[in-house]
Amino acid sequence: MSSNFNLDLNLNLSSEAPDVDLEAPAEPRPAIENVIIIGSGPAGWSAAIYTARANLRPLLIAGNEVGGQIALTTEVENYPGLESIQGPELAAQMQKQAERFGTEVLLDYVTELDADGPPFTVRTASGKEFRANAIIAATGASPRRLGVAGEERLTGRGVSYCATCDGFFFRGKDVIVVGGGDSALQEGLFLTKFAARVRIVHRRDQLRAGATLQRRAQENPKIEFVWNSVVESINGEKKVESVRLKNLVSGETTDTATDGVFVYIGHLPNNQLFLDKLAMDEQGYLITDKLMRTSAPGIFAAGEIQDHRFKQAATSAGQGVAAAMEAEKYLAELEDRAYPGHKG
Ligand code: NAP
Repeated sequence: MSSNFNLDLNLNLSSEAPDVDLEAPAEPRPAIENVIIIGSGPAGWSAAIYTARANLRPLLIAGNEVGGQIALTTEVENYPGLESIQGPELAAQMQKQAERFGTEVLLDYVTELDADGPPFTVRTASGKEFRANAIIAATGASPRRLGVAGEERLTGRGVSYCATCDGFFFRGKDVIVVGGGDSALQEGLFLTKFAARVRIVHRRDQLRAGATLQRRAQENPKIEFVWNSVVESINGEKKVESVRLKNLVSGETTDTATDGVFVYIGHLPNNQLFLDKLAMDEQGYLITDKLMRTSAPGIFAAGEIQDHRFKQAATSAGQGVAAAMEAEKYLAELEDRAYPGHKG
């Protein structure tokens, strides 16, 4: 065991904050980190807040999309305690809280994880290498692509996966939203602030979205639904000009002029780092137990990388808390084993 294993022996397992000197000058990083958190969505920030308050000095490597999916959403109305907040603001508050308790945040992207540990080795896109005695994987999920002709070529030229980012460019225009879940309706409603017409194309004739969003969308005069239909191709020279829609009941195809296509058809887990290293289910989500442990002792996972059922900011945050508390216990036990004469 490394002499740099720097856990505070009197780990604070209560909900009380330890004495954190917020003004103290930054100490150099240990050669072996206690815990590295990979990802900066609600699961990552929550794990950071809890491990930081347990004096573990977590290092959080934020990834390419700082704040995760919640930072790309519009209004959040179902995060307990916050009646209404914009997604980017919620993400920024989480980061601020995590940093306040001493989380080191690195704006970098993890390209490689050596899961043979502890210590585990993490390498990043900027060429940095870290070692850590525990890992919390919170890499989340990314939007699923339609996989149709024209989609990739016209991404950023009318095809988008983020209404918050791109809605502004569609003032007075016609857009199509694909999907029938909460995201499609929520972001479709957001797009009505800009677009003249929003058509929601859904492959069935029943929505998956919750009742409140369904009611709001159905009552919005700018929203129309195109039922039982899928997008077969997205067309246009330099930008989106039309989509080819296929009606799955009649089999009929039609070319429909539009300026933009917003795709909200679910997500895929960001699991590339863990392939052939950690156990996954058939959909590629990490398998964890109730204590958020993956198949590798010392590697925990939280949020959408291991959850394809709940997928809420609040459930991801809760899973991040649980992973942090279990990582803390794991590190305490690991440290015990480091004592000379320990039999375990
Ligand atoms: P989702 O609930 O998985 O819905 C995906 C939608 O895309 C479904 O309607 C599905 O159709 C459709 N779809 C899937 N693959 C398709 C394909 N290849 N072509 C055409 N359509 C396809 O995903 P989501 O809406 O992103 O929501 C993810 C999670 O976040 C959910 O748990 C949701 O409740 C949550 N969320 C909540 C809120 C909120 O509470 N305000 C907001 C956003 C997201 P089928 O219905 O036929 O399967």
